[in-house]
Amino acid sequence: MNSRIYMSSPDVGELEEQYVLAAMRSGWIAPLGPDVDAFEAEMAARVGVTHAVALSSGTAALHLGLLGLGVGPGDIVVTSTMTFAATANAIVYTGAEPYFIDCEQATGNMDPALLREALDQLYHSGEMVAAIVPVDLLGKAVNYTAICAIAEEYGIPVLADAAESLGATHNLKAAGSFGRASILSFNGNKIMTTSGGGMLLTDDAELASHTRYLATQARQSVTHYEHTDIGYNYRLSNLLAALGRAQLTRLDDMIACRRRMRESYREVFADVPGVEIFGGENDKNDNFWLTSVIVNSSVSGWTPAELSAHLLLDNIESRPLWKPMHLQPIFRGARSSSNGTAERFFNTGLTLPSGSSLGPDEIERVLTRMSDLILRRV
Ligand SMILES: *Cc1c(COP(=O)(O)O)cnc(C)c1O
Repeated sequence: MNSRIYMSSPDVGELEEQYVLAAMRSGWIAPLGPDVDAFEAEMAARVGVTHAVALSSGTAALHLGLLGLGVGPGDIVVTSTMTFAATANAIVYTGAEPYFIDCEQATGNMDPALLREALDQLYHSGEMVAAIVPVDLLGKAVNYTAICAIAEEYGIPVLADAAESLGATHNLKAAGSFGRASILSFNGNKIMTTSGGGMLLTDDAELASHTRYLATQARQSVTHYEHTDIGYNYRLSNLLAALGRAQLTRLDDMIACRRRMRESYREVFADVPGVEIFGGENDKNDNFWLTSVIVNSSVSGWTPAELSAHLLLDNIESRPLWKPMHLQPIFRGARSSSNGTAERFFNTGLTLPSGSSLGPDEIERVLTRMSDLILRRV
């Protein structure tokens, strides 16, 4: 059996080894240290924000970002239905209720028209929307121009979930720099990794320092540790920050690899009727985190599940797009505004190996295997 090809595995090598080893040898093992400070400064500079707080995960960043915006029990938080469960889970941690908005046909990101409709309706029924959390799906930045304008009209703060979109832009501005604050994830499968980690980015000094405070068990700065709030143990360790610093120096190269992967898929599917690359042609501002295809199987003659099974026979991983949150059993009771788009993407989409660590032989294996099915050589 050929070795397993994953959708998006960590891309680490000698440079990462050097950085982590240097951090270990520096003696800064116990959790915080100079690599955390440097990682925060380097990421803030890269994204173009004034404050960055390195945290143990993207989920932790979402949780503290929401708390920092004052979200709590009885509030509603409006978010994208087309996302990974972490976004919705963090809303529930605060005691607030998630309200799910369906996506645009063209991008899979939160539909501004549906958002406006939902806010209008909630406003007129006197309900309190405490935050809007749009999600940059698979590395394409949300239409922040439209979403932030609507949010401003209603006076609602935006916490942008940029977990998937580091390196992408909207109107020349970096993903991660929108809204009152944004969050990043450095989970193992993301565009860059700290093996596990996340970050909150903001231009709001007070929000940044409050996040730091809550992430370190809400200790008042007195020697006996006075506590006036419930805190969390959510900081990133110094060793992992060193890994993140190495990865950040390689971010643009890793994006370039993923972009080439997208282009290869585009070539393979160029003359295949019934198949579109998810997110459309207009992807020059994406970070190409994952490439998915949308399959109209009555035209193509094969289903996404058949393609997936065919790839799996050669030990190649693929996966449907996120199952929308409003269709998840755990959120059965939640309210949503849907137009059927997210559900259609879930039923017709397939995400393909997209990682930057794939070697030429592995890429060849994936492309040949796919062509076999597409060209009916099997
Ligand atoms: C990965 C991801 C998260 C969670 O990040 P973790 O670091 O795994 O906690 C949140 N939101 C989205 C959209 C993600 O893809």
